[in-house]
Amino acid sequence: MGGELDSLDLIDGKRLSIVATEDGLTAEPQVRDAGGSWRRARPGDGVAEALLALLAAAPEVSEIGSFTVHSWSARVAAGERAITVDQTNESVIVGDAAVVKWAAHLQAGPHPAPRRIEILRANGFRHMPCPWGLVAWRSEDGDQTLVAGVDEYLPGAVDGWTWAVDLIAAAADGPDAPADELVAAAADVGTVIAELHAALALTATIASPADAERWRAGATATLDEARAHSDPAMRELLESRVIDEIVDGLGGMAGTPVIEGHGDLHVGQVLKHPGGYAVIDFDGNPVLPPAERVLPIPAVLDVAGLAQSLTHAAIVARRHHRVDRVALSKVDRLARDHFTRSYAAHLAALGHGELYDPACLRAFRLQQVLREVVYAARHLPRWMYVPEAALPMLLDEGITGGP
Ligand code: ADP
Ligand code: MG
Repeated sequence: MGGELDSLDLIDGKRLSIVATEDGLTAEPQVRDAGGSWRRARPGDGVAEALLALLAAAPEVSEIGSFTVHSWSARVAAGERAITVDQTNESVIVGDAAVVKWAAHLQAGPHPAPRRIEILRANGFRHMPCPWGLVAWRSEDGDQTLVAGVDEYLPGAVDGWTWAVDLIAAAADGPDAPADELVAAAADVGTVIAELHAALALTATIASPADAERWRAGATATLDEARAHSDPAMRELLESRVIDEIVDGLGGMAGTPVIEGHGDLHVGQVLKHPGGYAVIDFDGNPVLPPAERVLPIPAVLDVAGLAQSLTHAAIVARRHHRVDRVALSKVDRLARDHFTRSYAAHLAALGHGELYDPACLRAFRLQQVLREVVYAARHLPRWMYVPEAALPMLLDEGITGGP
C-alpha cells in the first residue's frame, strides 16, 4: 500500500490513515486482515462503527498525536452501508443512526467546518443534522484540515436538486397550477437560513476595503474565465457592459457586516426530511483557495447562493418536466421573492436585521452564474444549459425592474 503519513488507531485492528496518493492526500479507513497486513476498508468492515465507538468514549475535545477529535453527541451503532447518491466524499451510514463521511480529498488547511459547527451547536442552531463529532488532522505545515465528520443520519432526506425541482415543476404545470407548496417551502427555507445567520451573528465584523476589493477582483477573474470558456452566443452576452458594472459594484462593499457564514449555500445543501429542513456541508466554497474559505462573508452571499440555485432548479425542472417557459419564470420569481422576503423578515425578528445588506444580491447571484459557466466548461459540459438559460434571465430582470 505505502504512502501512509499518519494514522489514528481505532479498536480491533481498525484505523483511519492519512495516505498520500497521486491525487493528493486522502483519509482512508483501513482494516487489518488475518495475515496482519492493512487494506482499505469497505462499508461493512466496521471502521465507521469503530470511529463511533471512539467518539462515544471520548471527551468533548481530545488530541491524539496530530489528530484532534471532537465528540458531541456520539453513541455506538452497528450495521454499515454505503450512501449510494453521487457524491465527492465517501459516506457510510451506520445503524440508520449516523453518517460517517471520510474526506476523499483532504483540503489544504485551515478548514472552516470544525469552528462553524462548534459555533452553530453552541448557539442552538436546530436545522442541521445533529453533529456527533469530527476528526481533524494537523499537517506538517501546521494547518488543520477535516478528515472525517460524523452526523446524525436523517432517514428519508432528499436534497433540493430533488425537492425544489419537483415543487417548481408542480407549480409551473399549467397556468392555474397551485404554487402554495412551493411558496411555503421557499418561505420555510428563508426562516432556516435566517436562523443559521442569527446563530453565527456573534462572529460579525465589518468588511474592510481590502475585503471588498478581493470580492470584486475574484468576481472579475471568474468573469474573465467564463468569457474565455464560452461559445460565441454566451460570449456575446458576457461582453455586455452591464455585467462589468454589476461586478464592479462588489468593490463598494467596504463597511458592510460580515459573518462566518455557510459560504457554499445552494439547494443541494438543504435537505428536506420528515422533520423539516436541514442545512449540510460547512466545508466552505471549494472554488476558493483554502485560506479564503475560512474568511467571513456578507450574509447576502449565502442568500444569493440559495436564491440563484432556485433559478437553476427551475431551469432543471424546465428540461426534465417540459414545463412552459413563461410559467416557469413566474414561478422562479415567486420562489425567490418568498425566500428572500421571509429570510429578511425572520432575521429582523431575531434581532439581527443589520446583518443583511441586499444591495449586492444581484451581483453575487451573477457571480454564481459565472461560476457555473466555469464549472460546466471545466468539469461538466452537460450542465452548461443551466448558466446559458440563467444569464439572460438575470440580465432581463434589470430591464423589467426586478430586485
Ligand atoms: P459530499 O460532500 O460528498 O457531496 P454531502 O455531505 O453533500 O456529501 O452529502 C451528499 C448527500 O448525502 C446529500 O445530498 C444527502 O442526500 C446525503 N446526506 C448527507 N448527509 C446526510 C444526513 N445527515 N442524513 C441523510 N442523508 C444525508
Ligand atoms: Mg455536497
